[in-house]
Amino acid sequence: MNIIAVMGPQGVFYKDEPIRELDKTLNQQGFQLIYPQSANDLIKLIEHNPRICGVIFDWDEYGLDLCAEINQLNEHLPLYPFINTHSTMDVSINEMRMAIWFFEYSLGAAEEIAQRIRHYTDEYIDTILPPLTRALFTYVREGKYTFCTPGHMAGTAFQKSPVGSLFYDFFGANTLKADISISVTELGSLLDHTGPHLEAEEYVARTFGAEQSYMVTNGTSTSNKIVGIYAAPAGSTVLIDRNCHKSLTHLLMMSDIIPIWLKPTRNPLGILGGIPKREFTRESIALKVADTPRASWPVHAVITNSTYDGLLYNTEYIKQTLDVPSIHFDSAWVPYTRFHPIYEGKSGMSGERVAGKTIYETQSTHKLLAAFSQASLIHIKGDYDEQAFNEAYMMHTSTSPNYAIVASIETAAAMLRGNPGRRLITRSVERALHFRREIQRLREETDGWFFDIWQPDGIDEPACWPIQPGEEDWHGFRDADADHMYLDPIKVTILTPGMSELGEMAEEGIPAALVAKFLDERGIVVEKTGPYNLLFLFSIGIDKTKAMGLLRGLCDFKRAYDLNLRVKNMLPDLYAEDPDFYRNMRIQTLAQGIHTLIQQHDLPRLMQQAFAVLPEMHMTPHQAFQHQVKGEVETVAISELVGRVAATMLLPYPPGVPLVMPGEMITEASRPVLDFLLMLCRIGEHYPGFETDIHGAQRTEDGQYRVRVLRCE
Ligand SMILES: *Cc1c(COP(=O)(O)O)cnc(C)c1O
Repeated sequence: MNIIAVMGPQGVFYKDEPIRELDKTLNQQGFQLIYPQSANDLIKLIEHNPRICGVIFDWDEYGLDLCAEINQLNEHLPLYPFINTHSTMDVSINEMRMAIWFFEYSLGAAEEIAQRIRHYTDEYIDTILPPLTRALFTYVREGKYTFCTPGHMAGTAFQKSPVGSLFYDFFGANTLKADISISVTELGSLLDHTGPHLEAEEYVARTFGAEQSYMVTNGTSTSNKIVGIYAAPAGSTVLIDRNCHKSLTHLLMMSDIIPIWLKPTRNPLGILGGIPKREFTRESIALKVADTPRASWPVHAVITNSTYDGLLYNTEYIKQTLDVPSIHFDSAWVPYTRFHPIYEGKSGMSGERVAGKTIYETQSTHKLLAAFSQASLIHIKGDYDEQAFNEAYMMHTSTSPNYAIVASIETAAAMLRGNPGRRLITRSVERALHFRREIQRLREETDGWFFDIWQPDGIDEPACWPIQPGEEDWHGFRDADADHMYLDPIKVTILTPGMSELGEMAEEGIPAALVAKFLDERGIVVEKTGPYNLLFLFSIGIDKTKAMGLLRGLCDFKRAYDLNLRVKNMLPDLYAEDPDFYRNMRIQTLAQGIHTLIQQHDLPRLMQQAFAVLPEMHMTPHQAFQHQVKGEVETVAISELVGRVAATMLLPYPPGVPLVMPGEMITEASRPVLDFLLMLCRIGEHYPGFETDIHGAQRTEDGQYRVRVLRCE
């Protein structure tokens, strides 16, 4: 970080010459100086160049106004105003708490000024670096010899081998130097919560508004298990969102606990609607407890917030209403809710403590913020037993954690602090809004069909849009609860023609999978593909060019579709999967073919029914897994599933939530679950390249799906 912006005073010799001198000296010290043309230009420059680490300017010409403007962008950026002996100084600069240092225009002072700028730059870097990352950087810079693990010894071992050298050159020196052993005492310990690691946890907790935070190096999959293992003792009952992540199914397989389900809604488009208010009441829970063998009043609840389609809950309602001592919000997708006012009251950590309850929130730092894969956080508000919790934490944590992951969690937090952090999130919300408006505009201006977008009318202001009951039907949820769920603007769902929000099928349609494949061949990867909808995430890494690229991709699709190009030309990768099948086929024929298949199977109704009934719980997932590891299983064709107890979870992707849990049995009453799975299989049978990925089912050579069930005694 070595760029300094200079707002040069022009044409005044006594001012020009000292700056010229300083330019030379700073250059010798390794700084790069750049000269914006106006204050406006400077502001833009700072906005677009986070590497700028100081601003030199003429106090008489720019003064406090410029300082205030820069402050809005970055309150820590060092400012170096130059004054002359007659300059007037305003007292209010002291009140603004800016990093501001005055220098006088005098010749022969360049050396000293440059030294001080070096010093203030180092202070600046120190200020913005969070504690563990700072300690790690310092450690690497010092370059100590160690005689401990890891065996590559700061990368040296790699460089003793040809292939190792390729690896070393690819990942770079610092990646390997920063990969160090837990024996390095000055960095403290992640597992014992000491030294810079402890400071990092405290820093993260302050940043995210938690009382305590734990940094987890194996993803929210692990965070969820840590919380669950601690919060639900063996034999206890837990309430779990049926649309949960598979890591929670794994928790249920590991731990001998009894699940009862919170049942979410879903609209005809297949968008997951979240759990309705009635499911959180005592009456509803009492009925389920009475209905479930061995169950008692639940001690813990897990709710996915946001849902996969970007719906956030009014969490205050849940915290107040749900009568369990421990509530866990799985917020893997929304680690940013603390940093924009539109998310107020919609996250696990928002609001105050709730008497008698402990609130957990888990987040995948890596999913929508800037951190390495596997970076995850657990936040806690409320009382808990730190020592017991830490046993659960250590149970799931390697004794050799990867410090790069840990430092990336902390850096992700640091990036969200202060004015730069606020701007980062504000900008991603604005970018999503802009994209939404562009789609709307194109839809209005385009002849014939165009993509639609799942959102209310009038999206002028940044907001999380409520899914309200009554007259509005943009969301397609019948019986929505008032003030309960809200659409996050950065989760953008694009709709393709073929099905209305209310599930009526049109004569013609373009299944979303075609668009997803088209975009994929252009390097644009869709987050999730439903029957007629595609989900895109506008995270902080999405810049204008990426948003434009997506827009162009959609327009290109429309053009190619309207020209009715051959599949061979429009989707070469798909064509390659089965050239004989796709030889002369054109895109509209393919689209209409799949659309008709979906129509024939009445997909909207089937999907609705499949998720409306739950299979019968025959035993807990834990018991089913015990049977599996004892080998008491066999496989059957998926069509033979009725009356058999599933050994593994069945999870079609999309939508990516479990349909059948281990230990559950599909019965006559829950046959729609099977019908839905069979329909997914059938689309794949008809159209090569459109096979549904069903986790838990094996596809055989001849394209049949087989699943593991418990052997009949
Ligand atoms: C992705 C995800 C997880 C798991 O997170 P990882 O960081 O990938 O392990 C947990 N819960 C939900 C809801 C998720 O979407």
